[in-house]
Amino acid sequence: MHELSLVHSLLELIDEQAAEHGFSRVNLVKLSCGRISGVEPQALKFAFSNTIPGTLCAGARLELDILPLKIHCFDCDREIYSNNADPTTCPDCGGSRVMVCSGFEELQLVELDVD
Ligand SMILES: [Zn+2]
Repeated sequence: MHELSLVHSLLELIDEQAAEHGFSRVNLVKLSCGRISGVEPQALKFAFSNTIPGTLCAGARLELDILPLKIHCFDCDREIYSNNADPTTCPDCGGSRVMVCSGFEELQLVELDVD
């Protein structure tokens, strides 16, 4: 399961930060990822809550910001934010001459609230 390995890398990163900054408890973990990054939010939250007992993050809340999908349509000749997870078709004109500008960002640690 992809999300489980993401959570493991995340916890390793947080461990490194804890060693560097000297905190021992995490209250909130804020993450972001692109709309079409392939991260499944529910699966990520599930993996997180199953992995954190006994770690620095035990009891911590997880927030995940989904960054919108932005495409450039060469038929409309403009940039469009799409809530549709399909990056291959323009939501306005239905054209397929589109280029994805953003939305495929990998999972990132945005903020940690720690004690
Ligand atoms: Zn279009």
